[in-house]
Amino acid sequence: MVLSGAAGEFGRTEEYVRPRWGDRRWPRCPRGHELAVGGVTGSYSHALGLPTMLCLACQTAGANRASWVEIDVTAQHTPQTAPRTGLALIRHRPPSPAAAGRIELTLDTTVLGHIELALCRIECRGNLRALEVEPGRRRTGYGTVLAAAARALAPDYDWSMPAFAEDPVARAFWAAAGVPGPSPLAPCSHMREALGMPSEAWTGT
Ligand SMILES: [Zn+2]
Ligand SMILES: [Zn+2]
Repeated sequence: MVLSGAAGEFGRTEEYVRPRWGDRRWPRCPRGHELAVGGVTGSYSHALGLPTMLCLACQTAGANRASWVEIDVTAQHTPQTAPRTGLALIRHRPPSPAAAGRIELTLDTTVLGHIELALCRIECRGNLRALEVEPGRRRTGYGTVLAAAARALAPDYDWSMPAFAEDPVARAFWAAAGVPGPSPLAPCSHMREALGMPSEAWTGT
C-alpha cells in the first residue's frame, strides 16, 4: 500500500488550511512557529488536490495538528473550471464592475465558506462585505484563506470592511488574519451606484 495521505495516514490535514501567494507561503504554522526557523517539510494530499505542510517544530514536540494544507489564493477557479473534487477557491464575478462578487471555498463542490467583496477599478478601492464559514469549519483557517483570496484580486487597492462594533470574536479573527485594517467600510460612488444605493443612505455598517 502506498501512503499518499489520502486515507488520513498522516493525520487529518484538512483540519487546517493556510493561504499561499504563488511561491510565498504563510510564515507560521497553526501553532505559531516561524517556519523559516523551525523548519517545514511538504507532501501532497490527493484527496484535497493540494500541498500539505508539516511543521518540524510541532513534529519534534509531538504536538497534534502539526500539519495543514496550503491553497494558492492567486490561482482561483471560475465556476466553469472548478474541480469536482478537493478543496478549491471559486470566484463568482459580480454582475456589473463595482457590484458585489463572491469567492467560495468548496470541498468536493460543497460550499464551506464564502466572502463577498466589491472592487472599483477606477478608484482602486476594495470593500470586504460579508464572510461566512460553516460552523464545523471555523477556527481552521478557512476565513483567513477567503479574506486573503479577496485581497489577492487587488493587493495594492485601498481596502475597507464593516466595523467590528463590539464583537470580540470578529475583532480577534480580523486581527489574526491581518486584513484589511481599520473600518469603517468606505464604498465609492461606483459601488453605491452598482448596489442601487443613494449615497446619503449609506450608514457604514
Ligand atoms: Zn509548529
Ligand atoms: Zn469607484
